[in-house]
Amino acid sequence: GKLKTALQRTREAFGGELETMALARRPVDDELWDDLEEILLAADFGVPTTVKIVDALKVVAKQDRYETSDQVVSRFRRDVQNFLTLPGMTLNVQAKPAVILVVGVNGSGKTTTIGKLATVLRAQRKKVMVVAADTFRAAAAEQLAVWAQRAGAEYVRGAEGSDPSSVVFDGMTAAKARGIDVVLVDTAGRLQTKTNLMEELKKMRRVIEREMGAPPSETLLVVDGTTGQNALSQAKLFNEATQLTGVIVTKLDSTAKGGVLVGIVDQLTVPVKYIGLGEGQDALAPFDPAQFTRALFE
Ligand code: GDP
Repeated sequence: GKLKTALQRTREAFGGELETMALARRPVDDELWDDLEEILLAADFGVPTTVKIVDALKVVAKQDRYETSDQVVSRFRRDVQNFLTLPGMTLNVQAKPAVILVVGVNGSGKTTTIGKLATVLRAQRKKVMVVAADTFRAAAAEQLAVWAQRAGAEYVRGAEGSDPSSVVFDGMTAAKARGIDVVLVDTAGRLQTKTNLMEELKKMRRVIEREMGAPPSETLLVVDGTTGQNALSQAKLFNEATQLTGVIVTKLDSTAKGGVLVGIVDQLTVPVKYIGLGEGQDALAPFDPAQFTRALFE
């Protein structure tokens, strides 16, 4: 239904090609492997993941004596679904308050995603607080305030240009005092030098750990799916800078490059927790590998 519609562009570019390949019942030969590689690269799986998947398929095809392309394609589908299935795909909100640090570059859809997440959590009857620790973009903080209000979440912000860690501190104090269940912390998204980024994130983590007696329950990276391989390199950068526990891939509704999601999961071994499927408040879906592959292939 909704997912299938949202993933239409990736589906057309990629699922359609694979379906054609399967239906043709072509012999399993070098030409087939080359064509499969080409399809995966065009769908933004990335070189390492493409090579890994195709090499593994070649071994299986030989072992199980595959004769035609439909066997290869159906096995591929199963492999992708397995690939995408990692432990910890659901949001960890066990702690009270559970602190969710949200990172990502400007424009990735971070503000929107936090608004959507607040909405999802409010629908689960949780008391939610949004902390605007991106103190460099006044406009972003305003936008976040609007989203928080719309979702029915509490909201804490610092003065423009103030130290993000001090805003995090204020947020943690307020969350404890007000009996909040989940705190969503927005962070600055300037892609400065990697060292600065790392230092800033480390400092915030330290404040959270000191105030709450535990590290954040989640550190989620928001990446823009329409940027394809750039989303993957950003994910790698952030994963080196901080211990990511999950990824949210946004704007899958407006791209044919949805395959990058597979590359991210494969190369980071970090689960995708949610996917962004539109600009609206309810356009955030929990990531379900079975549903996702079905939406792409059926
Ligand atoms: P930030 O700079 O990372 O905080 O990004 P914003 O949340 O302001 O989002 C940037 C733009 O992307 C806005 O126009 C959003 O409406 C849009 N956006 C965010 N998520 C999605 C999504 O899942 N699908 C679509 N189509 N647009 C999105």
